[in-house]
Amino acid sequence: MNIPQSSNPRVVIVGGGFGGIALAKKLSKKEVQVVLLDKHNYHNFQPLLYQVSTGGLEPDSIAYPIRKVLQGYPNFFFRLAQVQEVKTDTKRIKTNIGEIFYDYLVVATGSETNFFGNKGIETKGMAMKTIPQSLNLRSLILENFEQALLTDDLHERDALMNFVIVGGGPTGVELAGALAEIKKGILPKDYPDLDTRRAQINLIQSGGRILPAMSEKASEKAEKFLEELGVNVWKNIRVTDYDGKRVTTNTKTIFEAETLVWAAGVKAVGLKGLDGEELLSRGNRLRVNEFHQVIGLDGVFAIGDVAQMETEKFPEGHPMMAQPAMQQGKSLGDNIVRMIEEKPMKPFVYKDKGSMATVGRNKAVVDLPKFRFQGVFAWFVWMFVHLYFLIGFRNRLVVFINWVYNYVRFDREARLIIRPFKKQNKVERHKLMRD
Ligand SMILES: Cc1cc2nc3c(=O)[nH]c(=O)nc-3n(C[C@H](O)[C@H](O)[C@H](O)COP(=O)(O)OP(=O)(O)OC[C@H]3O[C@@H](n4cnc5c(N)ncnc54)[C@H](O)[C@@H]3O)c2cc1C
Repeated sequence: MNIPQSSNPRVVIVGGGFGGIALAKKLSKKEVQVVLLDKHNYHNFQPLLYQVSTGGLEPDSIAYPIRKVLQGYPNFFFRLAQVQEVKTDTKRIKTNIGEIFYDYLVVATGSETNFFGNKGIETKGMAMKTIPQSLNLRSLILENFEQALLTDDLHERDALMNFVIVGGGPTGVELAGALAEIKKGILPKDYPDLDTRRAQINLIQSGGRILPAMSEKASEKAEKFLEELGVNVWKNIRVTDYDGKRVTTNTKTIFEAETLVWAAGVKAVGLKGLDGEELLSRGNRLRVNEFHQVIGLDGVFAIGDVAQMETEKFPEGHPMMAQPAMQQGKSLGDNIVRMIEEKPMKPFVYKDKGSMATVGRNKAVVDLPKFRFQGVFAWFVWMFVHLYFLIGFRNRLVVFINWVYNYVRFDREARLIIRPFKKQNKVERHKLMRD
């Protein structure tokens, strides 16, 4: 990999997401050599992916070059590499560009969509975890309307304009709200010769309330906001399968829809060599102690979505969200330095700063540890927090300008089919991978 030998210990971080970047920043001025490996050369700000999918933002404005985050630090090395295996016995990592030795390894590989083994949904449904997936969804949504304009078959036209979003967490709620706004404000102008009032947005939640991780008040209010926007909220229904045209459920309800978005589960991204049953917990997460050490492995740590730290307050691990990942990255950075200086490490304590979700223009719900509020003020708070945590001044500025423009003009100008998406190709790709 052409990384010079150093007298300082080498910390290899796999993953430049929220956790990996926070850790690398923390170590950037310390007496260690930091090697960050990621299969992408950019950090992906996942909370705003739904805005890319719905034409509200360009993908570039939510991605940031990893190399730029730590420019100017002589002890920092980035390599664009897909990690393939960890050999803990020799402390080596195998990647698609070669092997590397580590003194300390930090796994920060995040999570991926969990289809719970349902091949129909996996191959014919859409996920929204990466920028390419969001661009695929954007293309599919727009292509559906172009197609709906051409067909004389009313049944087919309705299916093209019928959207099923599975999962009533923040991702599902935010996507449903954005689609409803497009239906109301943009489709009638873009497609004056199509009866876009027939478009349906269905949000399906298996449990009794949407946003189950938030307060009951937030759930109630978010549901009310969605209904005001014309979203059909279905609760206590479980989607069982999808053949690309029909969504079946555990009830008699069936949806005829050309688009199904699966936002109903994630699982940790595992690495070969760290996949022993004794290392893993629910959702494929690596079991770690209060210092982020993978239980049973020397010199291996995990942070963020991939780590499961069971504490009294969080018996099932911390929420798979950006805040825990960032706080864990910072805490581990301190502990690695303490370890090298042979000082005792400090256990990680998560400071819950609250959670929030937006449903649309002037409509958001915010649960802070001491206050809960909903509506216009919550929406401004949501925007401010997301701008604050975006990496890079240019990205903040571009997103801010876009939001102001979209607010004033009731518009979303990134509704572009840059790379057409064919569902059939996705099915073929899956088949090839399986064969
Ligand atoms: C649509 C969506 C909306 C969300 N909204 C919110 C929100 O509003 N608020 C919130 O707090 N959280 C939100 N989250 C969750 C949040 O984004 C994650 O919890 C957070 O990204 C986890 O950080 P991480 O560092 O663990 O992993 P990630 O940020 O996912 O980073 C993992 C990195 O590892 C890299 N990687 C993975 N495998 C390999 C490999 N084998 N080799 C090399 N590199 C690899 C990936 O390329 C990636 O860069 C959302 C997530 C999604 C998908």
